[in-house]
Amino acid sequence: MLQIKDIQRYYDIGGVKYWALKGVNVSFRTSEFVAILGASGSGKTTLLNIIGGLDRYSNGDLIIDNVSTKQYKDKDWDAYRNHRIGFVFQSYNLISHLDVLSNVELALTLSGVSAKERKQKALEVLTTVGLKDHVNKKPNQLSGGQQQRVAIARALINDPNIILADEPTGALDTETSVEIMELLTRISKNKLIIMVTHNPELANKYAKRIISLSDGLVVSDTQPYEIKEAVVEDKKDKTAMSFPTALKLSLKNILTKKRRTLITAFAGCIGILGIGLVLAIQSGFGNVLTDMQQNMMASAPFDISENFTQFGFNGNGSDVNLNDNEIKGSAPAGPIMGSNIIDQTFLDFLSSRNTLNYASVHQMTGLNIRAFNIINGVLLDTPRTPQPFNPMAPGNPLVLESFIPDQMISDHSAQWMTIVGSYTGSAAFGATLVLNHDNTINQHVLPFLGLPTDQIININDVLGKTFKILSNNALFEFNGSTYQVRPEADIINLINNNSSDVITVTITNIIRPANEFVGLGQGGIFVGGVANQAIMNLNNNSDVVNAQRSSASSVVDFDSFLLPSFTDTQLLRALGGNNLPQTVLIFPNDFAARDQVVEIINEYNVAQTDPARVITMIDGTSEVFEMLNLLVDTISLVLILFAAVSLVVSSIMIGIITYTSVLERTKEIGVLRSIGARKKDISRVFNAETILIGLFAGILGVLIILGLSPLINHISAPLTPTGAGVSNVTIFHIILLVSISILLTLVAGLIPARIAAKKDPVKALRTE
Ligand code: ADP
Ligand code: MG
Repeated sequence: MLQIKDIQRYYDIGGVKYWALKGVNVSFRTSEFVAILGASGSGKTTLLNIIGGLDRYSNGDLIIDNVSTKQYKDKDWDAYRNHRIGFVFQSYNLISHLDVLSNVELALTLSGVSAKERKQKALEVLTTVGLKDHVNKKPNQLSGGQQQRVAIARALINDPNIILADEPTGALDTETSVEIMELLTRISKNKLIIMVTHNPELANKYAKRIISLSDGLVVSDTQPYEIKEAVVEDKKDKTAMSFPTALKLSLKNILTKKRRTLITAFAGCIGILGIGLVLAIQSGFGNVLTDMQQNMMASAPFDISENFTQFGFNGNGSDVNLNDNEIKGSAPAGPIMGSNIIDQTFLDFLSSRNTLNYASVHQMTGLNIRAFNIINGVLLDTPRTPQPFNPMAPGNPLVLESFIPDQMISDHSAQWMTIVGSYTGSAAFGATLVLNHDNTINQHVLPFLGLPTDQIININDVLGKTFKILSNNALFEFNGSTYQVRPEADIINLINNNSSDVITVTITNIIRPANEFVGLGQGGIFVGGVANQAIMNLNNNSDVVNAQRSSASSVVDFDSFLLPSFTDTQLLRALGGNNLPQTVLIFPNDFAARDQVVEIINEYNVAQTDPARVITMIDGTSEVFEMLNLLVDTISLVLILFAAVSLVVSSIMIGIITYTSVLERTKEIGVLRSIGARKKDISRVFNAETILIGLFAGILGVLIILGLSPLINHISAPLTPTGAGVSNVTIFHIILLVSISILLTLVAGLIPARIAAKKDPVKALRTE
């Protein structure tokens, strides 16, 4: 059945061959109890390992059932060990983290036997060895003799033809040794038992045949056996450990080291935590932005202006792929200047499209209103915010404007809140005082209305305050060459005499934005509607406007006008000489209406044959949001890169920890190989372990994120305009994070798992 033909085994030690076996010839019967005797170092273990297919011979041949093993591949040896051989070692070599039953079942698990059958067979052999009552104990809860019985049961489980026992009683006392020998004798009835020992008494008492080994050679054989050679066809079985088995093995191992697993998982989860938090915040912040865009900025106006500057954020963005010899024009980066033709045709088109059904359209003529007030006998001029750079620039925040979002106030109660009064009011000419979000107001406005700046004012004291707006005829006098603003005394007189060129405006309405993102810093006095129209009408027929219309140059003395010099058309507008709007602001009623506005303008543009008449509408909000989104994405990317570094670091740590585990479980690797596990199975065991750790790390990371997220939201909610927190963990994130964690730890563990798989089983078994 087994034939050893001139087997030699040498070890190459520093280029020098050391011969452990020098040419052993011996054959075995199908069933007999053979003892191999010999001094320590005579080659007994080496021979046994070669017979068991655990070690490879250097020369010669091992013939199994008349088949040479010279052509055997790894998988053939694995199958041979699993199906034909049962190993029993001096140091039992049980897997400490598995209970007795699982230790015994292991070889069957490798050959893919069902769980039920495994258990039944394992109980059977455990009964045979007399351990029926100890099946749920761990190896370290058993005596040495009992452990060796478990090892024998494990060797028997696959019902192998050959049991190889390497000094099975070497670690046991005499009494226990005898029990083990009797057990082996019982088994040897229908099996080949080859037992290595250096105890001649035991050998003589129990073995039927004694082979003596000395210095790598057989020196005596009490019952030699010769077989006639014959050729028999190859019979090869396969072994394979299923992945669930590998998982179970690793899970049990991990569970015996709970604290270390926890620490490893924690190390592994830090990178996941980082990435997870960035993802959660990116998503949550994105939601806040979208919310802001949809709810708060919904009615932020589209701006159609005579002259405009458009900021492009993707000036270099191009979707063409050009070759070296090709050129194409691209949109320039940075601001683009342009102009729109806003004429009656365009205005008629807007009203023909019933824009008012979903948006408020506001026309701003560019009229420069000049307001005065007499407080305690002192004449106060239009309140303006002094600017350090250019005190009179028209773009600087004038706190008094000719534009009033009256329609908007009534249409968009979500954006604008009326505190007291109403826009129309009871006065002939009403004005609206627009406060800031927090009920403050530009301090230059208060004295103008005769109110103190250094104390808190009751809102009702503000309502009903009046001031005067002077039309051009009241404001200017002609000095023979230019129009100049009248001296203060004359203005006071005109006001006091209730000139028809002076209109009295009353604060009839006090409003404020519903949130801090509407009308940013635009608080002030707004004069619109009836009052605005009245001034426009007066100014349109004023002397200065008529003079300006027929003059090729400016007719106004700019110094006295308190404004920087304009072009002639701009001047005419400032004076109220142009009824056509300089700017049309379109305030959509809600977020959905924005698309409708865009469509209407597109419809107009498509119909234009003259490219100069195409309208460019500026959506300030989307530009801001485009920039904000870009900013959030960029910051997220940077943060993710940082988190990725910690992910790499934790992966390396997991690799190292897995490698430590490989070192610790070297013996287990040897045992698994001895019962027929393939290299692949060994790497599976460790891959399963890293997958489990990755899973734990991922789950731990996700749990921490789920714990932190409400905290982040609690802290951040008051800071966001929508009152929503900036952290948002989705199912997608959870799945992604756990997958990344598993994948990374798996990759990190691949090398250690390979190292484990490549371990020489003989060396592995020799390690302590
Ligand atoms: P025994 O089991 O009879 O005590 P072994 O078969 O273990 O002897 O060893 C036989 C000889 O081979 C010994 O001299 C031992 O030192 C040597 N040997 C065993 N394994 C190795 C190895 N991996 N590398 C080098 N020499 C080894
Ligand atoms: Mg030995």
